[in-house]
Amino acid sequence: MIDFRDFTYKELENYIIKINEPKFRAKQIFQWIHKGVNSFDDIININKGLKEKLKNEGYICNMVIEEKYTSNIDGTTKYIMRLKDENFIECVLMKYTFGNTICISTQVGCSMGCSFCASTIGGKIRNLTAGEMFGQVLTLQNDIKEKISNVVLMGTGEPFDNYENVIKFLNIINDPNGINIGMRHITISTCGLVPQIKMLADLNLQITLAISLHAPNDEIRKKIMPIANRYSMEELLDACKYYIKRTNRRITFEYALINEINDSEENALELSKKLKGMLCHVNLIPLNKVDEREFIKPDMDKVNIFKNILLKNGIETTVRREMGSDINAACGQLRRRFIQKNK
Ligand code: SAH
Repeated sequence: MIDFRDFTYKELENYIIKINEPKFRAKQIFQWIHKGVNSFDDIININKGLKEKLKNEGYICNMVIEEKYTSNIDGTTKYIMRLKDENFIECVLMKYTFGNTICISTQVGCSMGCSFCASTIGGKIRNLTAGEMFGQVLTLQNDIKEKISNVVLMGTGEPFDNYENVIKFLNIINDPNGINIGMRHITISTCGLVPQIKMLADLNLQITLAISLHAPNDEIRKKIMPIANRYSMEELLDACKYYIKRTNRRITFEYALINEINDSEENALELSKKLKGMLCHVNLIPLNKVDEREFIKPDMDKVNIFKNILLKNGIETTVRREMGSDINAACGQLRRRFIQKNK
């Protein structure tokens, strides 16, 4: 069966031509899908015959909300979605003053193995399709009856380990015939797959690239991120410089502060030296405690000392505001709880 949310505009046009329907039908159907309809019956400007034909070949709705939790602190809502094959994924809605932001998953599970992250504990089950990434956006929009204006690919999974589907998803949501989310409103976060960073740079898409750096050198990085064994920090930072050169976009470096692992003054100084002169911004994230892991976050004094060292050295730095701390919002934790509870 065909997932109609997985079609780019061009692909849908080709499909409509293939089934001997007039080309303008593609635009109608595409627009309705992007308005969030869940069934062909809800498309009012196509005839019954065509609806039946489409129903025999595929579906529009590719997931349902299984559970949702809203934070009492800041209104952040975490969703568990059930996919057609009974896999579960999570995504998060964050309400900011500049608009509604969705954090989507790109894979069911993750194979990157970062030692502080809950998403990777059960390994990777499969890649999500572009349609399933888009489905998360549409399902949330339908649920809150408001538009989503920003998309961050920072949920479960490594986007660059699912590169083709991710790029297709960007093309779907950026299409002027559809929900048309501007590239500047999209952020991709990666643990640092160097070849894909360069490939993305060559597409020159104007999206924001966020790199999960989490360490000032290879020695510490290797202890917490297996990907550091594949690409050195030098190669990674070179790829980042290439991205900046090609796109002229500022890169965000994410740095989860972990007590006694990467949070010393010396670490801050070393990081400052490595990033000096780059068009970048550091986002410090005090670690979210994951039950299965022994790591904890440093106290706020240490976080501030770290931040001030970077600032003093001319590196733009912010500390990430913790969202939804009362609802297991950290990276894959909710999905894990959910799967364990329903075993
Ligand atoms: N695989 C991608 C995107 C998903 S993770 C990546 O690695 O960037 C999104 C961000 O949350 C990453 O920076 C990740 O390192 C971070 N993260 C994972 N677990 C965390 C935890 N327990 N506390 C704080 N940040 C965490």
